[in-house]
Amino acid sequence: MALSNPIGMSEPEPPPPGGDATARVTPMMEQYIEIKAANPDCLLFYRMGDFYEMFFDDAETASRALGIVLTKRGKHLGADIPMCGVPIERADEYLHKLIALGHRVAVCEQLEDPAEAKKRGAKSVVKRDVVRLVTPGTLTEDTLLDARRNNYLLAVARARLSSTEEDARFALAWIDISTGEFRITECDRASLSAEIARLEPGEIIVSDALFADGEVAPFWRTLPAVTPLARDVFDSGTAERRLTSFFAVATSDAFGALTRLELTAAAACVTYVERTQIGKRPPLSPPLRESAGATMAIDQATRGNLELMRTLAGERRGSLLDAIDRTVTSAGSRLLAQRLSAPLTDPAAIGKRLDAVASFVEDAPARADTRSRLAVAPDLARALARLAVGRGGPRDLAAIRDGILAAADLARALAALKNMPADIAQALDSCRKPDGMLAAELAAALAAELPLLKRDGGFVREGYDVALDETRSLRDESRRVVAALQARYAEETGVRGLKIRHNNVLGYFVEVTAQHGDKLLAAPLNATFIHRQTLAGQVRFTTTDLGELEAKIASAADRALGLELEIFERLAAQAIAQSAPIKQCAEALAQLDVSSALAHLALERDYARPQVDASHDFAVDGGRHAVVEQALARDGTPFVANDCDLSPPAEGDAGRIWLITGPNMAGKSTFLRQNALIAILAQMGSFVPAKAARIGVVDRLFSRVGAADDLARGRSTFMVEMVETAAILNQAGSGSLVILDEIGRGTATFDGLSIAWATVEHLHDVNKCRALFATHFHELTALSARLPRLYNATVRVKEWQGDVVFLHEVVAGAADRSYGIQVAKLAGLPTSVIERAKLVLAKLEQEDRAAPKGFEDLPLFAAPYKAPQAAVDDAYGELIAALAALHPDEMSPRDAMDALYALKEKLKAPEKR
Ligand code: ADP
Ligand code: MG
Repeated sequence: MALSNPIGMSEPEPPPPGGDATARVTPMMEQYIEIKAANPDCLLFYRMGDFYEMFFDDAETASRALGIVLTKRGKHLGADIPMCGVPIERADEYLHKLIALGHRVAVCEQLEDPAEAKKRGAKSVVKRDVVRLVTPGTLTEDTLLDARRNNYLLAVARARLSSTEEDARFALAWIDISTGEFRITECDRASLSAEIARLEPGEIIVSDALFADGEVAPFWRTLPAVTPLARDVFDSGTAERRLTSFFAVATSDAFGALTRLELTAAAACVTYVERTQIGKRPPLSPPLRESAGATMAIDQATRGNLELMRTLAGERRGSLLDAIDRTVTSAGSRLLAQRLSAPLTDPAAIGKRLDAVASFVEDAPARADTRSRLAVAPDLARALARLAVGRGGPRDLAAIRDGILAAADLARALAALKNMPADIAQALDSCRKPDGMLAAELAAALAAELPLLKRDGGFVREGYDVALDETRSLRDESRRVVAALQARYAEETGVRGLKIRHNNVLGYFVEVTAQHGDKLLAAPLNATFIHRQTLAGQVRFTTTDLGELEAKIASAADRALGLELEIFERLAAQAIAQSAPIKQCAEALAQLDVSSALAHLALERDYARPQVDASHDFAVDGGRHAVVEQALARDGTPFVANDCDLSPPAEGDAGRIWLITGPNMAGKSTFLRQNALIAILAQMGSFVPAKAARIGVVDRLFSRVGAADDLARGRSTFMVEMVETAAILNQAGSGSLVILDEIGRGTATFDGLSIAWATVEHLHDVNKCRALFATHFHELTALSARLPRLYNATVRVKEWQGDVVFLHEVVAGAADRSYGIQVAKLAGLPTSVIERAKLVLAKLEQEDRAAPKGFEDLPLFAAPYKAPQAAVDDAYGELIAALAALHPDEMSPRDAMDALYALKEKLKAPEKR
């Protein structure tokens, strides 16, 4: 929708086109230009009446981005001013679009009534200023946020001990201003991307220097919204002062022992919040430090690959989160997502969460009661945050009231829980924290039906405030007087159809049809009725009485609204004063929702409580894939449960590697992933889809799929596969769980086989981690003869009348064949092709048997593989050396060409091999 000139403009317009306008800048444009100059990196939403207008380049950008019409308004320095506008009541919608496209918006409001400005003289401009910067990481509106997801603002600060990047430390501080959560942690360069992948921040802020830094700059470019900020925001010298002053505490000791770097990141967050919210303070909790290693490290590729929060296609539907989410509140859904993206590593902490789930599993009435009470509980945290930044409405006050009351009721109801574990007891304590007086006050004050916006009025209950009631009855009384006046005028004039009406231009007026107009225009009635307007069918008049009455009504309505707004501010202030207990209460409700929802899920889908300890065990009995199982169930197909045991053999502490062979479609990938998901579910504190599971804490989880399986990500090159495999071989340790699915598929058979071979050896001897390795290279199964912790498993299939039947059953042993031709047949390849393929296969197999490959003789098999990083491909090494030896400044164009050809030649050599 495109709208040009706002209605009811009371400011001096830009001079009309032509005349002497060429070089004059109107006072309003002067104001606009000044405000725009102060916010150069934002689109400026400039409030004019009922619209936000954009001018110049902003107008062009926004009209393109929003698909609204670009118009012109007056002239600036002789040229037309491009303009476009959005009506305020639809501003959220347009803001949403702009933010999603990566824009930042400065919202500039009118700070006084235009009538005030007029009093200063006809030429004066309404006072305006920016009241808020809207950026992706600092949103609070329901309409701009996904209720079921946190929206984090993340600050990243870096400290370097030396010039190398390897020992650089990064501090991460993140805030959700819509809920008040505030956390800090530290990590190294290697874990930085995994940490960011876990948080999925809406916006990342970094210093200019870090943004432009050669080493990290390419990484920033892979992320959606990274905002570079001037150095002062990341100044470590003033960090502590900024942080303590925000929280009004004497020293940062109040937040526990924070490093200088952590203080820097945390201070950057609060400074950015202050700058974007301009004077308003969201109710942030004091920063909570997460110690490194407290959560399972899961890198970006693994998260994507396991489809934890969304599928490879980017949908929530079909993800693990979607499959396990049985929460009934948005806050619960957000907490569940947080827990899923950050499984714990401390068995005791995990045990506490599991206890809470277990007690809801055991007590069916309590579970049902909790869920039905929570289902009607509002989103306390977000309502509170909106009130605190001055963007709340009457319904947010109602949310505070209902949330507090629901929490208190729930605490009473659950006091009788059969089994009261520590987590639930603590949550119930928090539910009782907010002052009941506040809820009672809100209950007394708020009307039954509430408008969305406070400026609409009518939200304060009758009988709550004497002064308000009086003003309102005055207003309503006046309305009755209008009705009486209409009757009197009709009587006096003898015009029965005479009406008193109201519009925004004329206010109250008397209206008669055209045929009666003359009567009122003539004596004696014209002494009372003053002509205002003649329309096609009607004539309109005013009278002195009506004028007086109108003034009275308007002032009573104004006064009533004024009183209501005062009451609103007072109630909001009372709620904000209780931010801390209200937030604790909101967290407790979310916790109870998550625990009871996970219990509900466990019963619905027959999950078992896992046993989590500090060993390197991994024993799953009858495990299932949480997502595939539910998808199959919709078609009535049963899921075949499978065991998996990666626990160390009796004599050692290093876990096993399972090498899984079997034809395509047998269920290898499903089996691999289901075990990774079981580890994640267990450590996030959920029951798991299995008959029983004993999990020694997994500190790092890696999952990779061979390039050929990975087309969906649109970057499926062999190189990516190898880079990711390298990352695993360099990082996995004894506490890790590694899932490798068909690694080595993206290249020629012998290349791929050799790489897979060496990878298994490295995992076994160097990483000593638990691993599941699915492969179509049957040759690898020979390795189990030499590698004691390597175990061969295969997915059973049955041949029946020349067709292959998938049993999806994982058993000991190796697949004897690939059944590729049978699968091709199932897929509908023409019979002639199938028959021909069978002939070719028979011939190939015959030759293979005649000349056995004898893998035991491979030098590879006996070769040492201690320093994998050092084994750089010689040919590329040469290429790099040749490049390094070039000095472009000293070369003639001819030399340069020659050098380029020489490099190309060198490049060809390895390609040929
Ligand atoms: P592979 O990796 O061996 O090619 P997948 O794991 O992709 O096979 O599985 C192929 C299909 O088989 C899956 O989409 C699923 O529908 C089905 N499947 C896999 N495992 C099971 C199981 N345990 N029970 C039932 N169906 C299964
Ligand atoms: Mg597969």
